[in-house]
Amino acid sequence: MMSKQAELLAQATQADVDRFMKKVKKLPNGCWFWTGGRSRGQGNSLPYGTFSLQGRGVRAHVFAAEVIGKKVCPPGHHRDHTCEFSLCVNPDHIEIVPASENLKRRWSSGEHKK
Ligand SMILES: [Zn+2]
Repeated sequence: MMSKQAELLAQATQADVDRFMKKVKKLPNGCWFWTGGRSRGQGNSLPYGTFSLQGRGVRAHVFAAEVIGKKVCPPGHHRDHTCEFSLCVNPDHIEIVPASENLKRRWSSGEHKK
């Protein structure tokens, strides 16, 4: 069974993508900075972008990865920012990794957190 969010993402149109891109500011380093609404992540307190799709809020980076980047996130996997910038929505900077891998990285990168 598809989750409500997956259903919404599957129904996204080009008009939604255009609307999404109007809130993106492309930075010189390649990151797509999200200028729209945001909320705190669960489990960590990082800010994540939110995008309104048919009246419901979806994570901006999830929309970018699935709708623009066509990167489906299977169960047991996480979306990981390769640039470590939670407000980046560049699909090229979002990697689908097994949940255990994401955890391992968080452990190994814990030392040099800004
Ligand atoms: Zn980035």
